[in-house]
Amino acid sequence: MEILLNPGPVNLSERVRKALLKPDLCHREAEFSQLQNRIREKLLRIYDLPATGWAAVVLTGSGTSAMEAMVTSLVPQQGKLLILENGVYGERLTRIAEIYGINHVSLRHEWGEEIKIGKGWAQFKDITHLALVHHETTSGRLNDIRPIAEYCAANNISLLLDAVSSFGAEEIDFANWPIAGCAATANKCLHGVPGTSFVIVRREALLEGKVSQRSLYLDLPTYLTHQERGGTPFTQSVQTFYALDEALDEHAEAGSWQARRACFRGRMETVRNGLLNLGVKPLLEEGGSSCVLNAFHLPDGIDYQTLHDGLKARGFIIYAGQGEFAKTLFRISVMGALTDGDIERLLAAVEEILS
Ligand SMILES: *Cc1c(COP(=O)(O)O)cnc(C)c1O
Repeated sequence: MEILLNPGPVNLSERVRKALLKPDLCHREAEFSQLQNRIREKLLRIYDLPATGWAAVVLTGSGTSAMEAMVTSLVPQQGKLLILENGVYGERLTRIAEIYGINHVSLRHEWGEEIKIGKGWAQFKDITHLALVHHETTSGRLNDIRPIAEYCAANNISLLLDAVSSFGAEEIDFANWPIAGCAATANKCLHGVPGTSFVIVRREALLEGKVSQRSLYLDLPTYLTHQERGGTPFTQSVQTFYALDEALDEHAEAGSWQARRACFRGRMETVRNGLLNLGVKPLLEEGGSSCVLNAFHLPDGIDYQTLHDGLKARGFIIYAGQGEFAKTLFRISVMGALTDGDIERLLAAVEEILS
């Protein structure tokens, strides 16, 4: 089987794969209701969130559906959204705002550039919501949310976080950051199957009821109303729910997000040091990247396709740079059911291809 070093979908553990084979189930039966309730509770437990203040809304769709549901359900018609971009997914947040005609301004940074708090922000008036990506998978940069969250709290601004590639493996300080919504997915750090995504919402943010419905399928209040009663407005992807339920148990038993971060950090350090020994340099400074994914400069004299195909022939799938990064970078993610041996064999394979 191929070892997936792309940022999701990830290699499944046998336990999660087997969960896909559970009995067929109607989404209007009590057993589905219990399954969905369990998942919603376990998602809150990862960051110790009380169900009185927070709710997990579970959707059938990829991570982008959760982003779109978050932005369209939480920014009121009278509100104004500031979007901080430093990569493809930040730009995607802007696309969503454009498509739905949401009043917004976007502050563009170079891809991979650090977002520095405050500079030039005085020009932004009447901002009610601020959206950004936590781990910007384009470059591997883990955006430093804390100072931005403090700015938001001081200015009465609600935070919308795309945590699709960080939820379950990086710190998200729900208690102190003014988060209204946090979008994430089953098939990245949580090690589930693609097809389920979710938004963690602050209940107050939905109950304010200031948002007129913009979307039929991606409306969080509609889902929340049904899910609180154990139902669902639309057919959910039952098998991927089974897999997520199992993946969440595996995640909790291993020690939750802190243990997963330690695991990913360990793997990434091996990859980073191993590649440095081969003369392959990371894009970002030490400490700038997430534990999940790092971007690396393609070594002189080798293009992405050659490296990709050489590694694929040896059983490893790496990931290209996006857009303008395609010619100069490659990316390695360390999520999924990998072993230390896989990482050692990867480094040996890179060495073989480069020599
Ligand atoms: C993967 C990812 C998404 C969602 O991508 P899908 O292809 O819709 O699953 C969104 N944001 C970030 C930061 C991601 O890494």
